[in-house]
Amino acid sequence: MLPAVHAADRVLAAVDAAADEIVDFTSRLIRVPTVNPPGEAYEDCARLIGGVLKRSGFEVEYFAAEGRPEHTRAHPRINVVGLRRGRSVRPCVHLNGHFDVVPAGAGWSIDPFGGVVRDGRVYGRGACDMKAGIAAAVYAAEAIRRAGIGLAGSVEISGTVDEESGGFAGMAWLAQQGRVSAARTDAVIIPEPLNVDRICIGHRGVYWFEVTTTGRIGHGSMPFLGVSAIEHMGVLLERIRHDLLPVLASRTTEVPVVPEAARHATLNINGIMGGQPVDGIQTPCVADLCRAVFDRRFLLEEGFDATKAEIVALLERAAAATPRLKYELRDLMVVHPVRTPHGSAVVASLERRIQEVLGRPATQIASPGTYDHKHVDRIAGVANCVAYGPGILDLAHQPDEYCGIDDLVNATKVLALSILDLAGAA
Ligand SMILES: [Zn+2]
Repeated sequence: MLPAVHAADRVLAAVDAAADEIVDFTSRLIRVPTVNPPGEAYEDCARLIGGVLKRSGFEVEYFAAEGRPEHTRAHPRINVVGLRRGRSVRPCVHLNGHFDVVPAGAGWSIDPFGGVVRDGRVYGRGACDMKAGIAAAVYAAEAIRRAGIGLAGSVEISGTVDEESGGFAGMAWLAQQGRVSAARTDAVIIPEPLNVDRICIGHRGVYWFEVTTTGRIGHGSMPFLGVSAIEHMGVLLERIRHDLLPVLASRTTEVPVVPEAARHATLNINGIMGGQPVDGIQTPCVADLCRAVFDRRFLLEEGFDATKAEIVALLERAAAATPRLKYELRDLMVVHPVRTPHGSAVVASLERRIQEVLGRPATQIASPGTYDHKHVDRIAGVANCVAYGPGILDLAHQPDEYCGIDDLVNATKVLALSILDLAGAA
């Protein structure tokens, strides 16, 4: 058995020696245009990751998300999982990256799917979110192998689909199948781009709901004979603006959500539709229907039940005070907040290794939006989970997205040393 310090040095040297390969693998991943929606080229990308894992000593399995409506012949949802056993299977450290990317959008000065390497950066859609993270995970495990170090436990790496659209055929599906579960998985690291010195310990909750107001159609020249659903939606929106938003802004979570403004509860109006289509031929009619969809981000301290009860109470107050105001509330989606428990081994390891590799202390943050952590925590039941990976959060989904090669190499080092901590050297 090698002394621990010596083992770490050899792993770090192996990552440095593999730097060009890590960059090249990131470029190759970017060149597979796994655009979601609709979910292009998923199988190609799964096979690319699987092939590299196989050469790195992993047993590789592919999982089609059978039973999910979005898993179709035209756009199959294929996930890949590789397991490399050490002396024993436990403890098992699982690194998970989603390989779907959002559409390129406008404003690029470079081919979004070219995987171009220039000025110390890898460019392309998904460069930071999160193909660099996948490359870092794969080469973290590979560097351990090249350093000639065996593991006591095992390391598992998955590439999954659809994170950008909720992850239901990806990480949620693997968790539902028990492939990622507390019964076999001890720690999960998701190398999302959250800045190379930050550990992400969770996210706020999400409550999407739809409110419909119904009125009574009438002639537009005599609006007093009808009931306008649009006017009544206006009443509700005014209540929200006047009564609710200031209260939400006054609530602050103890969880270190970034940016600072996202440490409060928030509400966004996703969309609104009422009356006749504005582009169509107009007729003189009072609008008898108006619908709006809302995105309420709630804090761990608020919880879902109180969040919903507050909305219901507001709507009820408005209805009681406004003659003939009729509304309906429909839940569209609920994601509960998650937070990695205090004292989790995965946080302690990453904190130590970030300090060691970067020479500066790690910061703990939480994400303003959600990611696959929720499925790992809620469905798989693995609380020992964080996001940590290369790339700058603000560049995700932007034109000219890139990941710095320095970040990529440093994150690979941190991940490799954390795998050693969590799986144990043999
Ligand atoms: Zn992502």
